[in-house]
Amino acid sequence: DLWEFDPAPETADPRLKPRYDLFIGGRFVAPTAGKYFDSINPANETKLAEIAQANAADVDAAYVAAKKAFDTTWGKMPGKERAKYIFRLARLLQDRAREFAVAETMDGGKPIKESRDFDVPMAAAHFFYHAGWADKLDYVAPGRKVAPLGVVGQVIPWNFPLLMLAWKIAPALAMGNTVVIKPAETTSVTALKFAEIIQDAGLPPGTVNIVTGFGDTGAAVMNHPTAAKVAFTGSTEVGKIIMRSLAGTDKKMTMELGGKAANIVFDDAPLDQAVEGIVNGIFFNQGHVCCAGSRLLVHEPVAAAVLAKLKTRIRTLRVGDPLDKNTDIGAINSKEQLTRITKLVAAGVKEGAAMYQPPGQLPAKGYYFRPTVFSGVSMSHRIAREEIFGPVLSILTFRTPEEAVEKANNTAYGLSAGVWTDKGSRILKLSTELKAGVVWANTYNKFDPASPFGGYKESGFGREGGRQGLLDYCQLI
Ligand code: NAD
Repeated sequence: DLWEFDPAPETADPRLKPRYDLFIGGRFVAPTAGKYFDSINPANETKLAEIAQANAADVDAAYVAAKKAFDTTWGKMPGKERAKYIFRLARLLQDRAREFAVAETMDGGKPIKESRDFDVPMAAAHFFYHAGWADKLDYVAPGRKVAPLGVVGQVIPWNFPLLMLAWKIAPALAMGNTVVIKPAETTSVTALKFAEIIQDAGLPPGTVNIVTGFGDTGAAVMNHPTAAKVAFTGSTEVGKIIMRSLAGTDKKMTMELGGKAANIVFDDAPLDQAVEGIVNGIFFNQGHVCCAGSRLLVHEPVAAAVLAKLKTRIRTLRVGDPLDKNTDIGAINSKEQLTRITKLVAAGVKEGAAMYQPPGQLPAKGYYFRPTVFSGVSMSHRIAREEIFGPVLSILTFRTPEEAVEKANNTAYGLSAGVWTDKGSRILKLSTELKAGVVWANTYNKFDPASPFGGYKESGFGREGGRQGLLDYCQLI
């Protein structure tokens, strides 16, 4: 396997700097206002590093650098040359995979086995895949010519910090655009470590610029007049603010927003396999997943059996130190997110759903939440409608396939869905009836750089990955 390595994570050195500056024009530069903020390790509440806080002047400098690179180097380069650089990014990331996995886990709280086996290898895979496209752009829109857009502004969330960076910059670079990107404030470390890889790969200065900070920095990136296109991944709430602020401008826009996915289990499904899929669907990355299977719709005849199996299964999940290779559920990303989850769970109890949490001791320090399952949930409950973005599953039941589809689609979101059944015909029927960008059948949370990913309705628009993802970063001519 290309991706195999053994990080021995408990002892690995993530090689962090105590302080990270902005990455502009190929160099690390101090923020003009001299301000820094702390990145906290959510597993133990200690300070991991100081991160530069960019203001509008810093964001402007990043756009000047990106525009210069587009006009003079990266934007003028033949695709096959760009491919070499992007392949180099992929290989250098593989070389440092162990270090990046540990840093990602310390910064964001996710279990090391996930950073090691998913986040880092998938990020490398995204660069490999898009490097392969860079010299084959004639096939992006057969019969048409494509041209890059120019400078693109990108803002990403905290749940898959390095992987979201890869999703954003790999297609933009393959197409010949240059980039200004802002990571989320709680998880900027691996993006800034990736800046070291960008330097080592020898990308022309200004091809990728990384500005760190809070929402105001993100707004400056999205609203900058030089941005020909903006791409945002984050909450629907912030996505709407950005859409409103860009209304009337000529900027192209893609939005990857929230979700409230239905994972639908029929009575003919292999139940043990389905239970594994349900557990993976909601507890992967502490449920900090836009496509988390947070609503389980279960066929009435098997509802009691599925609930019993689920309770047994989640008693075996290990919650705790994310750097421990045996941990299944790591730390909640931030104190704010822990508060949000706690409030929504309290609302679930208050509205009358039955809550189950396995017993067991949580670490005394750090932000942790037990895997939580609610049964007896109805569509009107907040826990059935709002994105919790935590390890919390809401179980609803249905009697007919029609009722399952009706309930699954009865949400403002439409990012993903899962179907568990033995009937191929039912899978095909539901995959068109479910208004979701991805429908998984008898599996969950499967990703591939070649598969376009994106939402219906308030989950956003535009696609990332595959040929479609490249179409969102070019001008057809
Ligand atoms: P968020 O919207 O709070 O923040 C996302 C990013 O936007 C951060 O970098 C933040 O600093 C920045 N930001 C905040 N206010 C801004 C503003 N006014 N203008 C510009 N940028 C601003 O989201 P989050 O809490 O970081 O992430 C969780 C959300 O992301 C969830 O809703 C999740 O579903 C969604 N998400 C979606 C996908 C997808 O592909 N659809 C993938 C991952 C996460």
